[in-house]
Amino acid sequence: MSLKIYINGKLYDKEDAKVSVYDHGLLYGDGVFEGMRIYGGKVFRLAEHLERLWNSAKAIWLEIPMTPEALAEAVNQTMQVNGIRDGYVRLVVTRGAGTLGLDPNKCSDPQVIVIADTITLYPREYYEQGLHIVTVSTIRNHPAALSPRIKSLNYLNNILAKIEGLQAGCVEALMLNQKGEVSECTGDNIFLVRKGELLTPSVDAGVLEGITRSVVLELARELKIPVREIPLTKHDVYIADECFLTGSAAEIVPVTKVDSRKIGDGLPGPITRRLLKRFHEVTRQ
Ligand code: PMP
Repeated sequence: MSLKIYINGKLYDKEDAKVSVYDHGLLYGDGVFEGMRIYGGKVFRLAEHLERLWNSAKAIWLEIPMTPEALAEAVNQTMQVNGIRDGYVRLVVTRGAGTLGLDPNKCSDPQVIVIADTITLYPREYYEQGLHIVTVSTIRNHPAALSPRIKSLNYLNNILAKIEGLQAGCVEALMLNQKGEVSECTGDNIFLVRKGELLTPSVDAGVLEGITRSVVLELARELKIPVREIPLTKHDVYIADECFLTGSAAEIVPVTKVDSRKIGDGLPGPITRRLLKRFHEVTRQ
């Protein structure tokens, strides 16, 4: 049976789920999206994802043509009709079809798309041995130009960094901001541990306010691990005792090498492992 995709109130077979070539989502990357996880038949932190989607839309003057409650219902319906109990949901809202010019006022019909599918996870080995990443030359979008807090359909900044990472043989890549500080990876937030303290760049460093990032901050408080959101440099990464990344798809993945330098003793560290264990308990309960 073909996967059913939700578009503006209707379910279509995957092959028939289409949008116009005049959609500004396609022509200009004009739109917003979310990526969420389904655990045990339930979308993890759905309310937070919807809030971020609405905030992203507001920032680009895009009015989502339905209520968050109705979209939550659409997400649950799409997930159930496809019988997905553990997987991934992609929410997309495009500006809709318009003219070939930029003017979004000429776009009439934003497309609200829900794709519920299975997910290809990182191999187990990454969680056991840790990921190796590199710092890339692509600077994260300047927050005063296009805020990284907007999860927009224009992901070229991240894609260019991803390509650099892949060319260096790494599936994730660390991006610095316009000040040369650590921002985030192409699709994940970054955390360090130093002398028992959890460190992560603040949102001001120009990063997406990751939902997994906020869950990790909550778990750290619960586990009485001190946390600081502060500016960090590559040097801080190199001398960290531990490093890990967070994201809806990656969850919490340890990093054991950055720019060929071993992080800590080169194995996933104790605080990373504690947070990972607690994260599994929270998501798989
Ligand atoms: N940063 C970027 C650039 C992202 O695209 C993502 C989501 N893939 C994240 C961080 C992690 O965010 P979340 O935990 O909400 O998935």
